[in-house]
Amino acid sequence: MKTYNHFIDGKWAEPATGLWLESENPYTRQTWARIARGNTADVDAAVEAALQAFETGPWTRMTASARGKLLWRMGDLLEANADRLAPLESLDNGRPVEDVKGIIRHLSDYFRYFAGLADKIEGAVPPIEKPDYFNYTRHEPYGVVAAITPWNSPLLLVVWKLAPGLAAGNTFVLKPHEVASVGTLELAALFTQAGFPDGVVNVVTGTGAEVGEHLVGHPDVRKVAVTGGELAGRAIYQLAARDFKPVTLELGGKSPNIVFADANLDNAAKGSVMGMFNTSGQACIACSRVLVQDNVYEAFLEKLIEHTSAARLGDPLDPATEMGPMGCRPHFEKVMTYLKIAADEGTKVVLGGGASTRPGLENGYFIEPTILTEVTNDMRVAREEIFGPVMTVLRFKDDEEAIRIANDTSFGLGAGVWTEDMRRAIRVSDRLQAGSVYVNSYRVVSYMSPFGGYKNSGLGRENGQEAIREYLQTKSVWISLNDTAPPPFGKPYG
Ligand code: NAD
Repeated sequence: MKTYNHFIDGKWAEPATGLWLESENPYTRQTWARIARGNTADVDAAVEAALQAFETGPWTRMTASARGKLLWRMGDLLEANADRLAPLESLDNGRPVEDVKGIIRHLSDYFRYFAGLADKIEGAVPPIEKPDYFNYTRHEPYGVVAAITPWNSPLLLVVWKLAPGLAAGNTFVLKPHEVASVGTLELAALFTQAGFPDGVVNVVTGTGAEVGEHLVGHPDVRKVAVTGGELAGRAIYQLAARDFKPVTLELGGKSPNIVFADANLDNAAKGSVMGMFNTSGQACIACSRVLVQDNVYEAFLEKLIEHTSAARLGDPLDPATEMGPMGCRPHFEKVMTYLKIAADEGTKVVLGGGASTRPGLENGYFIEPTILTEVTNDMRVAREEIFGPVMTVLRFKDDEEAIRIANDTSFGLGAGVWTEDMRRAIRVSDRLQAGSVYVNSYRVVSYMSPFGGYKNSGLGRENGQEAIREYLQTKSVWISLNDTAPPPFGKPYG
């Protein structure tokens, strides 16, 4: 079994506590790795390393083009290491290995995209109305960024922060979820291999209470970027507010997926099943509320059941596996609790509905892909994020009702619209309160297009050109062109 320490200032560092946490493989329930159990002393050491790297190290003297070249190299290294890293992430969180490989190869392009942007961070020279002054603006990095990530897709979500944040010139302390930290630690070591100076990327592992809170509140951390659940997001936002730190939050969802009667029902069913059950429902953007127009409801439900029933559950390391287990025991228990709530609320289980009893899966935290009908939008199963393979199916009569139900949620991450009528698609998309809207598709992401939430699904955007702005602050520089200073009193400044 491999033991992982923190990664601080370019070196592996044993935890100050002398304690490690066990990382369990959710398929076998066996401990497969140990990670350092961090505390405040470890956080202090990592923040100090990141601060020194930002203030005095070679990183801060590097040109923007040189930063871009390092990021590009990181993209190449990530691609070359995809086959090595993917099984590690699978062992940590149970996500099918083929899925993870695809993600990691794609992540290389995130580094390359932001590598290209690094030397295009341009200030401005406003045509100031004061003839005695010259003014220009600069977009500067904040300094030390705390990046906190969840267990469901650790590599993807940390790269979404690192690529723009490093391109902008910041340094990082990463805090992955304690359930799945190994991929992030392996990634950090690749930064050294790519030629990044020590201290630019550091990782402290451990829990939110023992590591995360101290990191967010640390006075030398000047920007916070988080992907996680609503509870953690709220706690972190409040903590960061104490020192007015800017925060990017990517939180949860309860995304609606609207199927109109004029849709291509086969495509809509395939898209809905992909959008919900891929990653076993453990995706923020999962379309967990499928809204179906009355007159095609029965026909569509049949197709949903047919496509979902075909899912192959199995060993995440088996390339044929399509759905893995829940990422960890507490999460399995949480999803099981929601299945009990579903029963208590009077919903009807038309598929699945419990832990899997398929042969070979006995040891894993598997839950059968589940479809619930007779759901109303006021039920807890329709309002709260379950984050597991549980789809709720609701009915609607017309466009207005579909939009009303879709927007009747505290979340606003994603939404889907299935229709062959493009005027309707545009009209409905305009009115949906969600950061990403998919028409006749679902869950498409790209490094070129902004991703983020409306309402309680978050703040700020990752990906696309605007992501880099999340990691920059603007300075306005004034230069006097006067040979003689104006009198100190009697004239308003400027
Ligand atoms: P979580 O909120 O339990 O944990 C996220 C991270 O926050 C972990 O590293 C955790 O240790 C840390 N944390 C928790 N409390 C903290 C505190 N008080 N101070 C500092 N750090 C703290 O989330 P999870 O269970 O790992 O992940 C699932 C959640 O993440 C779901 O809600 C899902 O929707 C969301 N998510 C969102 C996106 C997105 O892009 N919007 C993507 C993936 C997952």
